[in-house]
Amino acid sequence: MQDNGNSNGVVNKSAREDRFQGHDYYNIDELLSDDHLLARDAVRSWVKQEVSPIIEDYANRAECPKHLFKGLGEIGAYGPSLPAEYGCGGMDEISYGIIMQELERGDSGIRSMASVQGSLVMYPIYKFGSEEQRKKYLPKLATGELIGCFGLTEPDHGSDPGGMITNIKDDGDAYILNGAKMWITNSPVADIAVVWAKDEEGKIRGLIVERGMKGFTTPEIHGKWSLRASITGELVFEDVRVPKANVLPNVKGLKGPLSCLSKARYGIAWGAIGAAMDCYDSALRYSQERVQFGKPIGQFQLTQKKLAEMITEITKAQLLVWRLGTLANAGKATPAQISMAKRNSCNIALQIAREARQIHGGMGITNEYPIMRHMMNLETVLTYEGTHDIHLLITGMDVTGFNAFK
Ligand SMILES: Cc1cc2nc3c(=O)[nH]c(=O)nc-3n(C[C@H](O)[C@H](O)[C@H](O)COP(=O)(O)OP(=O)(O)OC[C@H]3O[C@@H](n4cnc5c(N)ncnc54)[C@H](O)[C@@H]3O)c2cc1C
Repeated sequence: MQDNGNSNGVVNKSAREDRFQGHDYYNIDELLSDDHLLARDAVRSWVKQEVSPIIEDYANRAECPKHLFKGLGEIGAYGPSLPAEYGCGGMDEISYGIIMQELERGDSGIRSMASVQGSLVMYPIYKFGSEEQRKKYLPKLATGELIGCFGLTEPDHGSDPGGMITNIKDDGDAYILNGAKMWITNSPVADIAVVWAKDEEGKIRGLIVERGMKGFTTPEIHGKWSLRASITGELVFEDVRVPKANVLPNVKGLKGPLSCLSKARYGIAWGAIGAAMDCYDSALRYSQERVQFGKPIGQFQLTQKKLAEMITEITKAQLLVWRLGTLANAGKATPAQISMAKRNSCNIALQIAREARQIHGGMGITNEYPIMRHMMNLETVLTYEGTHDIHLLITGMDVTGFNAFK
């Protein structure tokens, strides 16, 4: 391991060796096909080669490694389960999940770059767009030649997107778009934005807004202590004239954005387990190598309790998402089932990151290990795409039949 101290005196472990090994306590690999395992190994190698050597440095500087957008396209990380005829992967939902798991094992921000593009930009264009829109945008989004973002959240409407005030007014062959979106992943670098806005009847419509349209700006949000390697911004619309040809014709209402969120939440359910596996892997190795009171700290029962609980939770989460994947492949995964898995994976991953930090002692707060970066990232992952509590309410409503949101 090299110590690359930089000019700020900050320890820069950009050349840190990535010693990660997968963890499969219940032989879940036996439930996976050769294609799944191939996809996993390919993305794992790519992450070790392209992400691990640079990620601490980029996260430290709160800078997005923009050069990875193209690489993510090359490994098929954008819309892996969308059809091959549009340049996408044509894989199944388990492959999509495994790819997200491996990317997030590297960094939640890198996984976010990919899942926004695939699930929140490409998926709505595929599902609700015209054939012309599909052909125009999907192949270029699949390669990373175009970057997209998804605008649903507003400054005053986060968990309650139905209250949005961004709106469109009919103006002949175009709509005039006004309003603002907040917390938008990829927005400052995006070529296009899939934006959700209310029409004059109050119905939510999806539009493809292109960079360069007059009145459309994308200021960056600074000061994040989480997802620092992912770029986040606003979308501001001041009388933007959006041609009617850019409206997604095949959906009206909140079910449009919510179905995209289901697709993305499914990926997060897998992805967060990747971050948990990385924390566990690092903690396990540290517990075998770090000696205190004359023996490796892994020999102490309190350390074993932490590690045993971590691998138990990882294994339970792996089984949950595998089953969710088989349901998704059969077109039977419900939004409420996806909510349960998203909430569970994020929650256990954050707990595991905190326990792993303790096992690493003081070293756990440094960028010599990935723990603190994962822990900070997971605070966002727990919150975006529906907060921890919102997903609990979704499960509560599903089992009781009562809506406790309002
Ligand atoms: C880094 C980052 C990237 C993001 N990327 C995107 C993106 O690309 N596109 C996009 O559209 N959005 C994005 N988001 C926004 C994200 O989805 C929202 O932050 C999230 O939905 C929560 O909304 P909020 O932050 O406004 O919190 P609020 O909705 O204000 O919630 C605050 C708290 O109140 C609780 N709460 C709210 N309503 C209820 C209720 N009925 N009952 C009980 N508790 C309740 C919540 O659980 C939470 O704890 C991103 C956010 C972050 C931080």
